Amino acid sequence: MIIESQELPPIGTNAYALLEPRLKQCVIIDAPAEAYEWAVQVAEKHSCEIVALILTHGHWDHILDGHKFAKAGIPTYGHADDTEMFASPSKMASYAIPGLELKKLPINHWVKGGDQLELLGTKMEIRHVPGHCPGNVLVYVACEKAAIVGDVIFAGSVGRYDLPGGDFSVLEKSIKTQVYSLPDETTIYPGHGPTTSVRQEKAGNPYVKG
Ligand SMILES: [Zn+2]
Repeated sequence: MIIESQELPPIGTNAYALLEPRLKQCVIIDAPAEAYEWAVQVAEKHSCEIVALILTHGHWDHILDGHKFAKAGIPTYGHADDTEMFASPSKMASYAIPGLELKKLPINHWVKGGDQLELLGTKMEIRHVPGHCPGNVLVYVACEKAAIVGDVIFAGSVGRYDLPGGDFSVLEKSIKTQVYSLPDETTIYPGHGPTTSVRQEKAGNPYVKG
């Protein structure tokens, strides 16, 4: 499997492409602005077809391009606790960049913690990690020792917990029970900033001790 990433506008949110050239398939995780064009280009480069868009959570900067994937017939995945943000993203306008058009997107597959999605010829485990927002999930790909986590944790930091539905004690519990319980060698691919690892955050994250 190949994992590619791209930081995208308008506030530097990471989109990820998980590609399995043997199967000619690709899964995209998160859809900031311009993610669709980027995803099509990356998929083409590896001769892959985009078979899923998984949204780690419903915040506007992670779903801006989601409607383009849906329009192209690509199945979308998200957690039901963020239903309102997927269905009525304009409700986030007060904490988005003014003037942005926030388009709703349909979710075809509702995921929950403990789900094992069969994608790219392997199992992708969904873990529910609320606290930054109610419906944040992480996608754990054991065979790649990789976890794509959305905004629950960053290299040396954690997601904001002052937005609607955020709560530090819930976030802390998610990190301790769902992130720090992954194998130490797991690479963490966050929604913003560089990659890190479970080992590194357990040892040095100043917000949540391992
Ligand atoms: Zn967020």
